[in-house]
Amino acid sequence: KLGNETLKAELGRAAWKVLHTTMARFPDKPTQDESDALKQYLYLFARLYPCGECAEHFQGILKKYPPQTSSRSSAAAWACFVHNLVNERKGKPIFDCANIGDFYDCGCADDEKEAIS
Ligand code: FAD
Repeated sequence: KLGNETLKAELGRAAWKVLHTTMARFPDKPTQDESDALKQYLYLFARLYPCGECAEHFQGILKKYPPQTSSRSSAAAWACFVHNLVNERKGKPIFDCANIGDFYDCGCADDEKEAIS
């Protein structure tokens, strides 16, 4: 049981990192296609998330709070909000979403410049 909880937490930390970093890298002004892609990604992420109990709960959250994908800031704020719902459920500290700005950096901010130079 202890081992399972440890692995579930490790998976969660990795998954949240990917999710929040994806939001931090999402365009400020996405095309309709980009917005749709992120929305589909989030629904599929919730559906296919490997921890079944988590997936079920998270799908319920998405039903109540549909993903906001019209801009980087709205997507990042939405992800922070839903992560806080999970934090709340687990009795974990609530993250201040005003601090989300520079928190998630993939070290790939210069991707486009590098591709040109
Ligand atoms: P995590 O919650 O994993 O967070 C990692 C780091 O992200 C934190 O240390 C902090 O720096 C930062 N952070 C914290 N809150 C926020 C926020 N709101 N916005 C941005 N960054 C933040 N576990 C269960 O036991 N039951 C579940 O039902 C469950 N559902 C889950 C659903 C999903 C979609 C995911 C991705 C994970 C779920 N988990 C669930 C795992 C759980 O959320 C945690 O990942 C796990 O308990 C480890 O917690 P942690 O304290 O290390 O920090």
